[in-house]
This record gives sequence, C-alpha cells and structure tokens, in this order.
Amino acid sequence: MTDPRRQIPRTDAVLDDPRFAALITQLGRERVKAAVQEAQQRAREGGIGSAEVMDTALAQLGSTGLRPVVNATGVVLHTNLGRAPLSDAAVAAVVAAAGYTDIELDLATGRRGRRGRTAMAALAANVPAAEAVHVVNNNAAALALAATALAQGKEIVISRGELIEIGDGFRLPELLTSTGARLREVGTTNRTHLRDYAEAIGPHTGFVLKVHPSNYRIEGFTHAPSIAELATLGVPLVGDVGSGLLRQEPLLPDEPDAATWLAQGADLVTASGDKLLGGPQCGLLLGRADLVERLRRHPLARALRVDKLTLAALEATLSAPFLAALHYGQDELRVRAERLAVRLRESGVEALAVDSEGAVGGGGAPGVRLASAAVSLPEAFAEPLRKGDPPVLGRVERGRCLLDLRTVADDDVLFAAVATNGPNGW
Ligand SMILES: *Cc1c(COP(=O)(O)O)cnc(C)c1O
Repeated sequence: MTDPRRQIPRTDAVLDDPRFAALITQLGRERVKAAVQEAQQRAREGGIGSAEVMDTALAQLGSTGLRPVVNATGVVLHTNLGRAPLSDAAVAAVVAAAGYTDIELDLATGRRGRRGRTAMAALAANVPAAEAVHVVNNNAAALALAATALAQGKEIVISRGELIEIGDGFRLPELLTSTGARLREVGTTNRTHLRDYAEAIGPHTGFVLKVHPSNYRIEGFTHAPSIAELATLGVPLVGDVGSGLLRQEPLLPDEPDAATWLAQGADLVTASGDKLLGGPQCGLLLGRADLVERLRRHPLARALRVDKLTLAALEATLSAPFLAALHYGQDELRVRAERLAVRLRESGVEALAVDSEGAVGGGGAPGVRLASAAVSLPEAFAEPLRKGDPPVLGRVERGRCLLDLRTVADDDVLFAAVATNGPNGW
C-alpha cells in the first residue's frame, strides 16, 4: 500500500503551474507559497484529497475571507449573512466613491464642504419631520453618542420591558451605562405606565429612552405609554426604532418608523441603516436641530464617523429605498419554484416546488411570516450545498432541505449550484 500522503503535490511543482505563476506576479511569491503549504497541510490531515490541493489553494488566493453566499433561507435580513444586500445602484455608488471623491470638497467654490452633505440631504429629504440628521457607524453607535452627549453623569429613564439584548451577547443597558450615564429603570417587564416615568423624572434626568422591541414580542397583559404620551414629560425623548423604516410600510403595519415617531413628539430617533432600509451598515440620527448638532460636535462623534463608501451606498439607497425581497408576491415566487424544480428534475435531482414561510429577520418584525415558495430537496443536500461554491444556505425542515426563493437573487446561479454540488450519488 502506498501512503496517500505521498501523492500530495510538491510545493515547487505547484508553483511552476502556469495558474500559480500568474498569481505570483500579482500577489507575491510568499503569499502564494503560504496558501499552497496550507492546502498541503489540510491534505496531510485528511481534510481534503491530494488531488484537491491545487484547487483549494487557488480558491483561497482568488477570494477574500468574505465569500458571496446564495441566501435560500427566506430570511430577508439574515444577521449571519450581513443583513440587507445592497441594491445595484448602491453597489455602483460604492465603486464610484472608491477612488478620490469630493466627500469634503465643494467643487463649485473649491473650498471645504460639509462631509457627506449630499447623503445627509438625501436622508433629510426622506424624513421631512426631522429638523436635522446625522449618520454614524451603526445604531449602537447612535445610542452611545446620544447617551454620552446628553446623559453622561445623568440618568436615562427606560422601561424594564425594553432592556434588550441585541445579539452576540451585546446588551443595550450595558452599552448605555458604559458611556457614564446611569439607567433609571421604571415599570415592570410587561406593564409600564406614564406615571412610572413621571415619578422617576427629576433634575438628574438626561433623557427618556423608548426602545422598540424589534427582536421579541411581549403579549398578553401588557401596557406601554405611546410616544405622544412620553413626549409630554418635559424632558428630551429619544426613540430607538431599530428597524430603520423611515416611513410607514403597509406590509409591516406593526413596525414603527422614524417619521411617525418624530411627528408624535420624539426629539431624537435612532435606527439601523442595514435593516429594513436596505442600505449599508450605519446608524441614523434624526430629530431636533439643537440635539443633533450637540451630537455632531461631540468629540466622540469623530470616533463613530462613517467612511465614504458607506455615505455613497446610503445616498444611493435613499434615492430608491426598496428591499425587493420583502415585496415579492407568493404567486411569482411559486412560478419561479415550479420552473426551477422542473429544471432540477430534468437533471436528475429529486426536487419539488412547495409553499414556504419566510421571515423578515435581523431584528425586525419578529411576528411577521412572509408567504413564500421554495424548492424542496432531500435533506442530504443541505451540507454539500453549504460547503459548495458558491455556498448555498437553505433551511432544513421536517427532513427536507428547503431553498426559499424570496431571498434568492438569481435562479440560474442556484440551479447550477444544486446541479453540480449535490451529495454523492445524485
Ligand atoms: C438592531 C437594533 C439595534 C442595534 O443596531 P445595530 O445597527 O446593529 O448597531 C439597537 N436597537 C434596536 C431596537 C435594534 O433593533
């Protein structure tokens, strides 16, 4: 018996291959050699076959660690898949802004201009109820900036029903107190009244914070004062809408939006840019001009500022804010599922078109199910598809691997992935 490890190609032989020679010119010999040695090591450990060493090294050199994934989960804002996908217009804007760009220059006068003024103008135009706007790295940064600038050494009054954990172990209460603000918790988990807030307010109050419970629901015997009621308390009212809806979305009637909260009396609203707005990761701050200006001029604001790529993507998103995946009707998804299932059966894959239920996900509209359609495959497809190229992520339900088409951008890509990356024996 020959030791299969003997068949692992030698480094010199691999580097002499013309495909690697081109990469050496591009990336440098050391980098290419390291990738080859890593692939050889994986072959020695049995993770890949000897014959796969070259392809594995090539694949690693040809991409960054971030690989495009086909999202067939039906979850529109999948946190583990980077939340909202950017629109084509936003991608084009990012590419255009990647080189030198007039981010802080007024080309008409040749003088310094306000950073990202066109993106800020687009945001302001989308929410006329906001006197002023600002953009930071994410919603957590927006809250940290508000707490630092408006409540350091003071109290933030907040309901016990709104002390939320966002994800990955990060908790809003801890984020807020890390800025030097103190929390003044009022009410109970399920019921908090206006008088609870009123009794807690005093000379130490920085602001009242209303947080939308965007990733959970409290049902049954519950009460929370409205924004309009909280606005009567005589101290600044900051509202975290979370999802980033700028105005009402008929599809999601229970999801709050920035314009409505501002119209009802919130002084400042914070939101994420990469949830239901469908833009890049960023945090939006909208509201009273004096408060936004205090935040914008606070020293911490500089540490939270967004880069030109984010501003470019945000501005393009705002010119057509529309998360396509949210709006597909079930009928058009069924037609796609049927067509794809037929093509797959013709290629010998046991595929069926079925109805399915997707979700908004990503900390938005927790109770909402989106009627959808999927291609149903044997469960054995799930793992090879996830490990394939491109990786396809589906949902395993009751012994079947479901590929939900609501979140799939290109059915041809999905077809090719399933036809070529299925489990052995199909
Ligand atoms: C998602 C969310 C956050 C965190 O937003 P990031 O943009 O991820 O920092 C904070 N508050 C609420 C209510 C949220 O839904």
